Amino acid sequence: MRRLDHFMATANAQYYTERDPFADFITAPELTQVFGELLGLWAAEAWRLLGRPDPVLLAEAGPGRGTLMADALRAIRAVTPDFAGALRLHLIETSPRLRARQAEKLPGATWHETLAGLPPGPLILIANEFLDALPIRQFVHRCGAWSERYVAGAAFAEIACPDPPALLVETAPPDMPEGGVMEVAEAALDWVAALAGRIVADGGAALLIDYGPVRAAPGESLQALRDRRPAPPLENPGCADLTAHVAFSPLAACARARGAAVFGPLAQGVFLARLGLFQRSGQLARGLPPRPAAAMIAAAQRLAAPERMGKLFKALAIMHPGAPSPPGFEM
Ligand code: SAH
Repeated sequence: MRRLDHFMATANAQYYTERDPFADFITAPELTQVFGELLGLWAAEAWRLLGRPDPVLLAEAGPGRGTLMADALRAIRAVTPDFAGALRLHLIETSPRLRARQAEKLPGATWHETLAGLPPGPLILIANEFLDALPIRQFVHRCGAWSERYVAGAAFAEIACPDPPALLVETAPPDMPEGGVMEVAEAALDWVAALAGRIVADGGAALLIDYGPVRAAPGESLQALRDRRPAPPLENPGCADLTAHVAFSPLAACARARGAAVFGPLAQGVFLARLGLFQRSGQLARGLPPRPAAAMIAAAQRLAAPERMGKLFKALAIMHPGAPSPPGFEM
């Protein structure tokens, strides 16, 4: 029997090592080149706001197929060659299989297992759909106290948890129903705290995009996707992609507690529209035959429409204290 977060960590490590995750799900950079281009220009503007440090680390956590960063670098080279000259590319990726994919598109990058492996210095970091893959803990409200979920075979077991995490106690509503579930994204919170600490110490900026609510609320979001369809999360560990929604307020709070300036969370649709999603997509579409042109516009709408990915997905920026609002987050 293993605690849910330990189960999820092992299952996902196996999944990302042995399978091609993109057979099971599709992400924003795989939908349109404009997503990575806009994030590249965001990074270039953040670099300017930070006083143009040279050299600077440009890092991505969980780069998948490398598509986002390849699109970002193309835009950076075209628009801000001085940033292109100053940046050193670093990728945080545990899967050897995905590292090989990334190397095809991103020659000259340096890979790391963890955030702590990055060399010191000013850092601009981007992560899309990375935090949702990190392990979560789940707690069940029982008779006014908390039990924690473990995995036994392909079923949940509960063990009384007399000393639950402080965040759980702070975020659970007073009228928590009997049997109600709260999730704590402990690994994501630790990761963001370390990122913010480093940005405060060495300078830098980070843009985190993921899906989840603003506030932690009762309910469970652990899900498995296999062949683009929902699958039972506890069955066949390592064969499906396990993710959970990440609540953004607790992430923002722990970055602020480390002394960083935090902007957002902002709905992805609003954020991308402010960065020029529709102008750029329209410009590209005008140079294309009718079918790919329509697909280009449809992809932009899928990213931005509230009922598609525009509202559930959110963007959060973490900046060196005193830095002005980064692009898209202006009041
Ligand atoms: N950002 C990409 C891919 C998202 S899939 C995109 O938008 O398309 C999640 C990515 O995070 C994969 O590259 C996966 O291998 C990586 N990953 C998952 N858990 C990780 C961990 N604990 N440390 C580093 N990388 C991880």
